[in-house]
Amino acid sequence: MKNFTNNHQADHWKLRGGPAGLHVFNRATGLNILDDEISVPVALWSRAPRNVSIALTNRCDLACVHCFAPKSRDALPFDTITRWLCELDANGTLGVGFGGGEPTLYPRFAELCQHAARETTLSVSFTTHGHHIDHAMADSLHGNVHFIRVSMDGVNGTYESIRRRSFEALRGRLKVIQGISQFGVNVVVNERTIGDLDEVAEVAADSGAAELLLLPQERTHTVSAIAAATMRELQCWVDGYGGPLKLCINEAHAEGFPTCDPLVAEHGLRAYAHIDATGAVKPTSYHATGIAVGEGGVLEALDLLAGDVTEDRP
Ligand code: SF4
Repeated sequence: MKNFTNNHQADHWKLRGGPAGLHVFNRATGLNILDDEISVPVALWSRAPRNVSIALTNRCDLACVHCFAPKSRDALPFDTITRWLCELDANGTLGVGFGGGEPTLYPRFAELCQHAARETTLSVSFTTHGHHIDHAMADSLHGNVHFIRVSMDGVNGTYESIRRRSFEALRGRLKVIQGISQFGVNVVVNERTIGDLDEVAEVAADSGAAELLLLPQERTHTVSAIAAATMRELQCWVDGYGGPLKLCINEAHAEGFPTCDPLVAEHGLRAYAHIDATGAVKPTSYHATGIAVGEGGVLEALDLLAGDVTEDRP
């Protein structure tokens, strides 16, 4: 499947072929159109995952107890990342999400976003705790990022007990972030945060967020997975939510929720892959091991991973 190459057109539409049909995507507006009546020949299916997340660095100045990122100083070289972005873009990936650790601590973060936005047709997003986004950083990111995900587990005392940062300071940062691009709020849902969901949604909507991403807590070395009773509470909350935010939930926990996935035929590594800060590609960021991306590039590592996917969660 070919992508538009003219820069003007590239900022408007990108084509991706796959088992679900022909997918047309506009990174500037976020509009997705799927023509599922077109049967795309297998030889023309896009080879790269639809979305790829990249942990730029494992560095972070917070210490959230639910964090799954290894506490190491690993970081990916700038030129390696830009080479991978080029490869993914040429092979049909629609969006790249930068994360970490804390991606805003990556030394050439704004330059990387600028490169991705200008030299590729990828939609650029990143996930952040938000506390380093000041007006100078906002100016350097404006026009080079299409979506930002801000972590906000609870409000006031709940947030501060988890993140050890001022909640009012975060609210101030949200005002700055709103001026960069569309943004959403991510919330790790567990026994401590579930009771704050109404207020989280209210603060997010008042701050101009478009989306609330619910992340039921995953098991790590330090915390257990969300309890079944809390999952049931979350389902009730979702059923009762009538606010303006688009609600999303990660795929691993989508069962039982009123979700809609028109691209269900395009699953697994066709839909998503993660590259960690050591340069290993994995099915998700929660997997403990992966396949190192070598000279053959990301697609070669993905092919190896496809034959070696394990459920090696921590
Ligand atoms: S802000 Fe994110 S990367 Fe940093 S410790 Fe918390 S969860 Fe981990």
